[in-house]
Amino acid sequence: MKCWFDGQLVPLESVRVSPLAHSLHYGGAVFEGIRFYEFIHNGRRCVFRLEDHIHRLLASARIMGMESPYSTDELCEAVLSTVRQSDLYADYIRPVIFRGEGIGLNSENLRTHVMIALVVLPWQQTIKPIELVTSRFIRLHPQSTEITAKVAGHYVNSYLAAMEAKKAGADDALLLDHKGNVAETSIANVFFVKGESIFTPRLGSIFPGLTRDCIIDFCENFRPPKFGKMQIEQRDISLEEAMSADAMFVTGTACEVLPVAKLNGKQFDTQNPRVLFLQQMYWGMVLNSIPCHQPSWLSVVDSEDFPLAPKIERSL
Ligand code: PMP
Repeated sequence: MKCWFDGQLVPLESVRVSPLAHSLHYGGAVFEGIRFYEFIHNGRRCVFRLEDHIHRLLASARIMGMESPYSTDELCEAVLSTVRQSDLYADYIRPVIFRGEGIGLNSENLRTHVMIALVVLPWQQTIKPIELVTSRFIRLHPQSTEITAKVAGHYVNSYLAAMEAKKAGADDALLLDHKGNVAETSIANVFFVKGESIFTPRLGSIFPGLTRDCIIDFCENFRPPKFGKMQIEQRDISLEEAMSADAMFVTGTACEVLPVAKLNGKQFDTQNPRVLFLQQMYWGMVLNSIPCHQPSWLSVVDSEDFPLAPKIERSL
């Protein structure tokens, strides 16, 4: 498999990174997780929200004081060319910007590298609602770091929480923020439904997910005849209020829109019509089986038909 490294498509195994790379020691690499999909109607592959991911990647790099040698357009094209040369019909893209060799916190004059790799993830064939438990770890304090940057070091917090939750028999952890309100899981944003209202933690102590942004956009722009306007609130949510919701779901590039079956043993409704509607909308957009009202969300990879492989089963 080829990856894009510092401007060129090269075999993944030929990439050499110094064991003294600054980002390896101090956790300052920034990265993104992007997905490309089989584009149902015209048989081409398509990257979802490519420009937004690359904008966020470059913003993260800037926050960490790294100057990318490549522009947004150059990186978008680099992602498209990496997917184009592969024979994968749908998978995961991992761009990383990191500092090269240099020991000591001073990072001036170190080389900035950019890598874009394709990752074959073990996607589950049947998409099952997940179980969460609250974590004893809290989400990073917004004054301890820049919470909007996707920095490798932040994920120590995520994987400690996820590891502990898995040991307790759950699929993932729900982390609270420093005020004790609900924040997010180790890798996804969270939403709740109670009666007609949909609510999600406001920005501040959470990572501003692009899938979260899609859900807010759907609620603001669609009026499904069954529900009328779907009101969405972004605000503080106590654990008590979360536990009293009818339904809960998580959102992220990898998990897409996924109902939560249980939180701390409390059962949620996994067939809530609002959750199912939002999940179907998201699947429809990424697969282009529902016309996308935001054309900039879809970047077509192939100029001609790509042979379609069997599709991931998308049912609960
Ligand atoms: N929160 C955290 C901590 C994450 O790592 C992710 C995944 N990037 C998300 C939320 C969801 O973000 P997105 O929808 O952009 O993938």
